[in-house]
Amino acid sequence: MTRLIFLGPPGAGKGTQAKSLADNLNIPHISTGDILRQALKDQTTLGIKAQGYMDRGELVPDKLVEDMVAERLGQPDTNSGWILDGFPRTVSQADFLNKLLQKLEQGGEKVVNLEVPDDVVVARLLERGRKDDTEEVIRRRLEVYRTETAPLIDYYRKRKQLLSVNGNQSPEEVTTELETAIGS
Ligand code: ADP
Repeated sequence: MTRLIFLGPPGAGKGTQAKSLADNLNIPHISTGDILRQALKDQTTLGIKAQGYMDRGELVPDKLVEDMVAERLGQPDTNSGWILDGFPRTVSQADFLNKLLQKLEQGGEKVVNLEVPDDVVVARLLERGRKDDTEEVIRRRLEVYRTETAPLIDYYRKRKQLLSVNGNQSPEEVTTELETAIGS
């Protein structure tokens, strides 16, 4: 049973690694960024509410993403395990997730922290050129990461759930180190 949370700054390669690992393990890859981008494209109520925040590089309000994650983790395909990518992003989301997992009787989750230096992250994001990857928005997202999300590293370290992986190497090398870290 694999239950993993991926942490790391924007541009760390979380999405790529999380997706391929989930495919290999045949478990759902749950990316809150992907779900939100789809909602935005479909112009659902959720998408319309989230749009402004995403365009500015701000976090979407906790309640919106928490409802989304509760709904997703309640689906039957999560019984075989899951990888969460992009959630939690705040201490309050992490507290919410702890309670949710308790309620769903899903435990033993580990947290992978993909470590990548700031300058590398900025260069990668500028190259990627997604709609919300303009320099100003990137700077804002990094700032939000530092103040809101980075505290989760200590949070999970204290709970002895943290595994660190060097994200500043080739994708194949990251995969190898990741597989060793999670023991698969
Ligand atoms: P990144 O490339 O920065 O890892 P994601 O694809 O995970 O980006 O998320 C894109 C945007 O979606 C974020 O900048 C944020 O506005 C919103 N978002 C995604 N996950 C969350 C979350 N857990 N809490 C709040 N906002 C979120």
